[in-house]
Amino acid sequence: MQTHLPDGFETLAIHAGQEPDPLTGAVIPPIYQVSTYKQDGVGGPRSGYEYSRTGNPTRSALEECLAALEGAPRALAFASGMAAEDALLRTACKPGDHVLIPHDAYGGTYRLVDKVLQPWGLSYLPVPVSDPGAVRDALASRTARLVWVETPTNPLLSIADIAALAEIAHAAGALLVVDNTFASPYLQQPLALGADVVVHSTTKYIGGHSDVVGGALAVADAGLAEQLAFLRNATGAVGGPFDGWLTLRGIRTLGVRMDRHCQNAMRVAGMLASHPAVTEVFYPGLEAHPGHEVAAKQMRGFGGMVSFRARGGADEAIAICGRTRLFILGESLGAVESLIEHPARMTHASAAGSALEVPADLVRLSVGIETCDDLLEDLRAALG
Ligand code: PLP
Repeated sequence: MQTHLPDGFETLAIHAGQEPDPLTGAVIPPIYQVSTYKQDGVGGPRSGYEYSRTGNPTRSALEECLAALEGAPRALAFASGMAAEDALLRTACKPGDHVLIPHDAYGGTYRLVDKVLQPWGLSYLPVPVSDPGAVRDALASRTARLVWVETPTNPLLSIADIAALAEIAHAAGALLVVDNTFASPYLQQPLALGADVVVHSTTKYIGGHSDVVGGALAVADAGLAEQLAFLRNATGAVGGPFDGWLTLRGIRTLGVRMDRHCQNAMRVAGMLASHPAVTEVFYPGLEAHPGHEVAAKQMRGFGGMVSFRARGGADEAIAICGRTRLFILGESLGAVESLIEHPARMTHASAAGSALEVPADLVRLSVGIETCDDLLEDLRAALG
């Protein structure tokens, strides 16, 4: 455990959990590609490690860094964002409990709650979490164990007021969980605003290079963190050491990457807002966005995700996705390269026919950190 680190974000990203290796002086934590550890006597594991499902030094380095970046006493890394979500919901809730989820939640979160945890005994209500009054009313009409919030949401980029929702959730005896995947800890730190748990798909901005899948939870309460570690060990949803190492490598440049994502996305959103082939742009950095003020209050930048609706409708939205050359047609987001996708047919297909269905004319962009003029030209050509 390190002490006396200055608390600048980029300093923590580069140094927290990442002391040079005491044995060799290697400045980057080694990949401990190992499943088991020699014990100094029966029941006497050295440095606390006995088996890599339970604990692995590379994963510990990643967790220490993530905890520092989210201002959490403890963070836990998982095999994927969905594994982290599953562990959290099954640890914080029991069959019979009720939860609120965003009415425009990420499709995978909806699928987990609706198709896996509802049969297990969890009930849920989709609510517009950008409206604190709607959340308060929902909690008044039925006790909920937790309020799940995404901000900005995937793919409609709506914004929820974390501090206001923390107060409302806590007054009703519920936990506030924030999926911070779109913002990353560089742009937004939900625990400092009163949230209880932060969820990440580290596959996205935190990893940042489309080369590793992972997830994480940053947890304010040490007791809950311990229960989560128990479930993770009991069920085994851990990533491998190389995954942890790659994620940690991505984290070191998170701050500079996010600055460029924000700059590029702002210019892309501005261009789209005045383009005749576009009817509506969703980007919290635009002053016309209904969540702009709240986003400006709780985020240090507006992020790299931009969605828009095509004037030509669903077929045209799909055609635009096939016409870009730099923006690669693909799911996922948050990496250095720009991606384009059609949420209704791709990332959010599992929400079709539900309250969380997304508009068929919607196109989602993950704006990368390429030369921005090249990105603008690519989009203009694709829009026609
Ligand atoms: N949360 C959000 C907001 C996401 O966009 C995603 C994936 O796209 C997830 C969670 C799930 O993460 P993973 O794909 O790493 O399981």
